Amino acid sequence: MNVPYSYLDEQFAQIDDYLEDIRRLVQSGDFTLGGAVAEFEERFAKLCGLPYAIGVGSGTDALILSLKIIGVGYGDEVITTPNTFISTVGAIAMVGARPVFVDNNQEYTIDPDKIAAAITPKTKAIVPVHLTGAPADMPRIMELAERHKLLVVEDAAQAILAKINGRHVGSWGQTACFSLHPLKNLNVWGDGGVIVTRSPELYRKLRLFRNHGMTTRDEIEMFAHNSRLDSLQAVIGNRLINEVADITAKRIANAQQYDKAFGDLNEFVTIPLRRPNTQQVYHTYVLRVKNRDGLLRYLIERGVKAKVHYPIPVHLQKASAYLGYKEGDFPVCEKDARTIISLPVHQHLISAQIDYVVGCVHEFYRAGRGSTKEDVLYTRC
Ligand SMILES: *Cc1c(COP(=O)(O)O)cnc(C)c1O
Repeated sequence: MNVPYSYLDEQFAQIDDYLEDIRRLVQSGDFTLGGAVAEFEERFAKLCGLPYAIGVGSGTDALILSLKIIGVGYGDEVITTPNTFISTVGAIAMVGARPVFVDNNQEYTIDPDKIAAAITPKTKAIVPVHLTGAPADMPRIMELAERHKLLVVEDAAQAILAKINGRHVGSWGQTACFSLHPLKNLNVWGDGGVIVTRSPELYRKLRLFRNHGMTTRDEIEMFAHNSRLDSLQAVIGNRLINEVADITAKRIANAQQYDKAFGDLNEFVTIPLRRPNTQQVYHTYVLRVKNRDGLLRYLIERGVKAKVHYPIPVHLQKASAYLGYKEGDFPVCEKDARTIISLPVHQHLISAQIDYVVGCVHEFYRAGRGSTKEDVLYTRC
C-alpha cells in the first residue's frame, strides 16, 4: 500500500471548477489585488475571528513585513525557538535583527519558562511558532511580553484554526503570519501568505507596505515592498477556504485514530502531548520514537512517506554560525531532532491507510527493532 505525504493529487482531481474560476479572473484582467484578494482577506479574517487580514506573497514575507512594520530592525534582538522551519529565523535576520533562541517544551513550542532568561535590554519582540499546529502557550507568552514591554508576532504558518481556550491562534500578538504554501492545511497552488491583526493602524500600514507604500496610483507614503497575494492564487484560496473546517476536522480525527492505535506502544512511541483546552490542527503528526532512523527507513520501504520536521535544529545550521550557538545549548530541541518522526496525517487519507501505517509501526517494534543495538544493526543492513 502507498501512503503519500502530500494530498495535492486529490485536490487537482476537481480541477474543472478551479479552471472556471481562473478563466473568469483572466477575462476580468484583475491580476493584482482587486476583488479576489479582497474577498479572500475578508473571509480569512472572519475565519480567525479577527477584523483584518492582509494577503501577501508568502508566509515568509508575512513575517518580514510584520517585523518591519512593528519597528524591528538593526540592533534589535528577537526571541524565537530553534525548533522551527528555517523561515522564522530567516525573517528575523532579513530585517536586520539578531535571532535569540529559547528551547522548546514537550509540545514542540517555545518553553515559556525559559524566555525570561533570554531577555536583554536589546530584546524587541518574541516570535512564538505554533509548530505542528500545536498552539504555543500564548497566555503566558503575552503576560511575559507585557511585563517586559515586548512586541509579539505569531508564526502561525502551520496552525490555521488552532485555538487556546476557544480563542484562535493569530489573535494574541500584534500580528500573526500564515502561509498558503501547497503543503499547508489551507493552501494555494504556489506561494501565498496572510497577516492578521486586530490593530486598524497596523492594518492600514501593512496594506501600504505590501504594495509599494502607495496611497493612490501617484502618491507614496513610505518606501516599501511589492509582496501581494497573487490574485490568481486568491481565486484558488477562495475555493479551498470553503473546506478548511472539514480539512481541520479530518486531520484531528486522523490524529486521534493514530493516538489510540499507539496506546500499547508506550515503551517505544510517545504520542503528541496536548495542553488542556487547546485545539491542535495537526499540520504534522509528530511522534517521539525509539530507533527513529530505523523506523523511518522501515516505513519508507513499505510505501509510507514518513518525514522528519526537522532533522537539523536551526541553531546548528551553517547559516546560524555567526550567532555562536553550539551543540548542547538547546537539549530538548536537539534530542527531538534525533527522535521525532512525522506520519502522514492529511485530510485525504483513508482509514485503511492509517491502519496500514499503524500496522507497520507495530511490526517494526514487535520485531524487536526498538533498541539502540538494533539501531546499529539495522543501519548496517
Ligand atoms: C511554511 C512555514 C513558513 C513559511 O511560509 P512560506 O509560505 O513557505 O514562506 C514559516 N514558518 C513556518 C513554521 C512554516 O511552517
